[in-house]
Amino acid sequence: MITLEHIHKSFGDNHVLKGVSVAVPEGGVTALIGASGSGKSTLLRCVNLLEIPQSGEVHIDDTVARFAPSQKVSRELILALRRKTGMVFQNFQLFPHLTALENVMEGLVTVLKWPREKAETRARDLLHKVGMSIKADAWPSSLSGGQQQRVAIARALAPSPKVLLCDEPTSALDPQLAAEVVDVLAQLARDGTTMLMATHDLRLAATIASNVVFLEHGEVVEAGPAQQVFRAPADERTRRFISILT
Ligand code: ATP
Ligand code: MG
Repeated sequence: MITLEHIHKSFGDNHVLKGVSVAVPEGGVTALIGASGSGKSTLLRCVNLLEIPQSGEVHIDDTVARFAPSQKVSRELILALRRKTGMVFQNFQLFPHLTALENVMEGLVTVLKWPREKAETRARDLLHKVGMSIKADAWPSSLSGGQQQRVAIARALAPSPKVLLCDEPTSALDPQLAAEVVDVLAQLARDGTTMLMATHDLRLAATIASNVVFLEHGEVVEAGPAQQVFRAPADERTRRFISILT
């Protein structure tokens, strides 16, 4: 189980996350929904410490990070959380000078110090899983956005993270390419990959999410099973948000 407890994050005077608590059940997909600026990306970035919260806790299995103002977070703790998380970004962020295969191998070889042969075997398995085997030797610039995102998903999964953090994984793609990525994410969800996903795409959320968290102005308005939140939201603000997007 991954839990975020009472996370506070400010940028200067801008209090972006105001005591956010989220439980991410293992083997399920938790969708983070909310208007632009509500703090979805910031919350994801607090899980792998791309942003350091001012206070609160992040628990991933037995690794616990507790934050307090003016308390420095150790490099070991940052690395420990990075190793337990994989992240997929809106704009893919593949390394342009590496092939698809090398992109997937990179972290295994340079960070985890796997022998190249073992890393290559793992990377080829993952490229197969995301339907990109035939593009193993292609450069990112020669791939469509949907193909780049599928390679990015394989790369994020390479070190077997406990949770895959996805920040708007389909929103830079036109509908047809987005559908390819949704298929891959849906398959991963069926295989029991734990995901925490920020998305504007309520269809994506409704397709693959088991749980939904609705954020507004940095606070959780409503959280619960996807069916319940989408079909019978308890809070009027959730109802309004969902009705705008559907
Ligand atoms: P969107 O749906 O547009 O992606 P979001 O819900 O992901 O929005 P965030 O990107 O988390 O929202 O931003 C929440 C607030 O935090 C915004 O007011 C934003 O300007 C601010 N913010 C985010 N990152 C930074 C940063 N690195 N420095 C300063 N302010 C930031
Ligand atoms: Mg965002």
